[in-house]
Formats: sequence, structure tokens, C-alpha cells
Amino acid sequence: MKKGKSINGMMVKQVKQAQPVRRKIPQRICVICRAVGDKGNLIRLVRRPDGDIVVDETGRMSGRGAYICYQTACWQGIATQLGRALKTPVSAEMQERLLTKGKEIAASRQ
Ligand SMILES: [Zn+2]
Repeated sequence: MKKGKSINGMMVKQVKQAQPVRRKIPQRICVICRAVGDKGNLIRLVRRPDGDIVVDETGRMSGRGAYICYQTACWQGIATQLGRALKTPVSAEMQERLLTKGKEIAASRQ
């Protein structure tokens, strides 16, 4: 143990704090509540070329994407806010389908 030299100990600690994480986790923001999380904590929704909005479970689907966190309150507000984020109207049918899918995914990840 090299705990005798406190100054050296502090310097070593500072160097470690400068690089806390080795992996870079892409941060995403929930379009409803603006909560920040990494990709695994948010669900990606994508607007397809035909105007439909689908849940992108792979995270690789092409199209304009928006992220939503797992809070139920956020999913209930998606009709207006998601429509704004994806620049397309979200129909009641679409919202219903997304809600169902979102609940499925949320349940499978808990
Ligand atoms: Zn949210």
C-alpha cells in the first residue's frame, strides 16, 4: 500500500476522476419530460416514410426518431408532444398502438 504520501494519493485520485467512464454511452432525452437517459432506458419511436410511427426496438430503424422514457405519464402525453417532435399528426389509433407496445416493452424490461 502506498498510502503514506497523501499528496500523491490526491493527484492519483484527480486523474481518475477526469476519466470516470471508459465506455461512451449515448445520452438520449425523453421528448415529453426531458429526462436524460442512455439508449437502454428510453424507447425509440420512428416516423416511417409513409407517416406511420412505430416503436423501434432495435434502435437502428431509419427515419426521424424521438425517444420516450418508461414513465406512464409520458406515454399518455405522446399524441401531441410526439406529433410535434416527429412533425406528423399522431392519430388516436396510432397512439393506442404505441401505448400498447410501449407497455409491453416496459413490462419486459422490468
Ligand atoms: Zn419521460
